[in-house]
Amino acid sequence: MSDLRDLYQEVILDHNRSPRNFGEPAHCDRKADGHNPLCGDEIRVFVTFEDGVVKDVRFVGNGCAISMASASMMTDLIKGKTESEARHLFTRFHQIVTGQVEGTSDGDDEDADHLAVLSGVREYPMRVKCATLAWHTLVAALDGGDQPVVTE
Ligand code: ZN
Repeated sequence: MSDLRDLYQEVILDHNRSPRNFGEPAHCDRKADGHNPLCGDEIRVFVTFEDGVVKDVRFVGNGCAISMASASMMTDLIKGKTESEARHLFTRFHQIVTGQVEGTSDGDDEDADHLAVLSGVREYPMRVKCATLAWHTLVAALDGGDQPVVTE
């Protein structure tokens, strides 16, 4: 189990060091802002659709390693998904980090394996808000994105 935890830690550090899909796009269909005042994490998520699937999703912001790594992993996972698949992934991710379901799978479900990387935060309630900020902001963008998201 500790080997698995080390692996998760390494994945988180890697995403934090070199975040995927970081930077403001020239064009986007929807965007939203998110803020986690407990930690000071701030993020903006940009989503572009094509033929009903997420063609591009990018983010900018700054915050702790967990919030940035989670945002980076989210963008990797969401690309190519439909809007309803993206919302479904958010639900699963939320269940994993709050401990409602186990975060590991038998390996058949690649998305679940990726989501499980952040399952360690369930032991740290403050960190759950860091891990879910990007996802809440994504959902706000999908919803239309007029109001900034503040996790409380
Ligand atoms: Zn944070």
